[in-house]
Amino acid sequence: MSALRRVGLYPGTFDPVTLGHLDIIKRAVKLVDHLVIGVATNAPKAPLFSLDERMAMVSGEASALAEGRATIEVKSFDMLLVKFAESLGAGVILRGLRAVSDFEYEFQMVAMNQRLNTEIETVFLMADPRHQAISSRLVKEIALLGGNVAPFTSPAVAQALIQRCKEKNANGR
Ligand code: ADP
Repeated sequence: MSALRRVGLYPGTFDPVTLGHLDIIKRAVKLVDHLVIGVATNAPKAPLFSLDERMAMVSGEASALAEGRATIEVKSFDMLLVKFAESLGAGVILRGLRAVSDFEYEFQMVAMNQRLNTEIETVFLMADPRHQAISSRLVKEIALLGGNVAPFTSPAVAQALIQRCKEKNANGR
């Protein structure tokens, strides 16, 4: 039974988790038995939310999405993606594709990862058209400028964004 268990890894920064990410997670749980959502420490990107905050938001949102299909686990990582996948026994890395702009980077990543481990496959998923254009970066920009992020995140994440942006703006950024 456990030998046949298909483990998938969905890695990202999730700063913060958006409806685009949740759309991909809903699709990913149809393909694997156990989905690990890997939250990258990603210090170089200077995230708006701490690792703990990002993990708590992902956990809060993702727990309801398995729908009895797969189990979901949220884990942080701060190592080479392929090494992390190996440590989990994951045979598949799941990534979302938004626009052509994502393609170039993802193409290179897959080519490199294939050289590092030939057993791990990367599978790309596309979100529903309503969610395809959503990116954490733009959602943060909208929130920092006082715009409405409700169409792009859950209410809880929108609330956390508003709060964090208030703090940032109060601190003169
Ligand atoms: P990263 O820093 O790895 O880009 P992100 O948190 O921005 O992390 O994204 C994690 C994954 O989710 C990536 O594969 C990204 O392409 C995908 N993704 C994010 N938003 C969307 C979306 N709206 N539609 C499809 N895929 C998405």
